[in-house]
Amino acid sequence: MNNHLKDAMEIRTLAREHNRLFEESVPLIASENVMSPLAMEMLLTDFGHRYAEGLPHERYYQGNFFVDQMEDKVTELGKKLFNAPQFDPRPVSGTNANMAVIFGLTKPLERICAPDLSGGGHISAAKFGALGFRGLDINNYPYDEETMTIDVEGARKTILEAKPNLCLFGQSVFLFPAPIKELRDTFQEVGCKVWYDGAHVAGLIAGKKFQDPLREGADVITGSTHKTLPGPQHGMVVGNTDEKTWRRVQKGVFPGVLSNHHLNTMAALGVTLAEMLDFGEAYAQKTIENAKTLAEELYALGMDVLAEKNGFTESHTLVADVRKLGGGKEVAEKLERCNIILNKNLIPVDHNKKSQEPSGIRIGAQEITRVGFGKNDAKELAEIMMKILKNDISEEKGKEKVKSLKSGFNEVKYCYGKSNPYEYIEIFK
Ligand SMILES: *Cc1c(COP(=O)(O)O)cnc(C)c1O
Repeated sequence: MNNHLKDAMEIRTLAREHNRLFEESVPLIASENVMSPLAMEMLLTDFGHRYAEGLPHERYYQGNFFVDQMEDKVTELGKKLFNAPQFDPRPVSGTNANMAVIFGLTKPLERICAPDLSGGGHISAAKFGALGFRGLDINNYPYDEETMTIDVEGARKTILEAKPNLCLFGQSVFLFPAPIKELRDTFQEVGCKVWYDGAHVAGLIAGKKFQDPLREGADVITGSTHKTLPGPQHGMVVGNTDEKTWRRVQKGVFPGVLSNHHLNTMAALGVTLAEMLDFGEAYAQKTIENAKTLAEELYALGMDVLAEKNGFTESHTLVADVRKLGGGKEVAEKLERCNIILNKNLIPVDHNKKSQEPSGIRIGAQEITRVGFGKNDAKELAEIMMKILKNDISEEKGKEKVKSLKSGFNEVKYCYGKSNPYEYIEIFK
């Protein structure tokens, strides 16, 4: 009765073709990365079949003897990496971690201050996203378009007027540190908690770069674990707050927004945390260096990279206004035809524009760094990109050049062991 084996095998074929596409492409999406071989291996274990509701040693189901020890170890590694007294590795994504904090630290209809979407804020910080679930009254910080940062004095006014219970920082276009140490007195004055969404920059923070939110005044950090932190698609909450607040956050995770958490990805996260303790600083430094190099080179070759005034970026990300090169959609699609994968993005000039037709693109340097790109490789990439976009070479020739450049970078670095992340693993016989 193998009536649908053909369909199943078609899915496998698509997976293989997808692997080959990425093996031959330069990945520049700022929210993606590749895992290490040891982390990948964890995804295929029996952990992925089991339930472990609640916290270690207080479970509802049997069979968690090794799960509890694994979860304790992952928690310990998380505390060590982020130099934090509290760590919860259970959320299954960044948005799930955000919802846990919202569930734990806010009541319906309360007031919150948060970054604006047009200033790079994430959909989970929007009324029509996760914050909307609680019907929260959202007050946005003003954004300085020239420096691509939150306007500190404006934010102070927003907070003093709104008197929120919670202030959220952190964006999806996150070029420069959030001004939390600058606003510390203001948080104290209104008596609010501070929540830092580090989804994009968690790997840079783990590598002791960018900023140190817990020391600068944040109570909790949420994060995705697959952006600059190069682990599985998963989430986490890091805390440096009083016991009562932390208990509320953990109750927000379970039973608030989760029943079971995903144990195979949690194990993969633990492996990634260990690897970041050993290799994270070198990786984070190189990532930022490569982002800066890409920005400088693209700018020198005629692309309007934003925030030139502050040196383009201090993170893994850069954004550019590409209206002169045909607009965000055109540029992203043209580059995709040449095996360069990035996304179109709204930029401040877009104000009320639809997100399908934005003026900008966003570029992340973390994944190319992870597979070994250095400064000269980043320069070469910028040159190829601009030749393609200015039609100095055909798309066909461009694609050839991209494939040839990428062929030297198919091994994951900054981790234990060696692997080509695109090699197909066959279990089905
Ligand atoms: C990516 C992102 C998230 C959500 O992450 P998922 O893991 O995709 O759910 C949350 N906040 C910010 C700022 C992000 O960029």
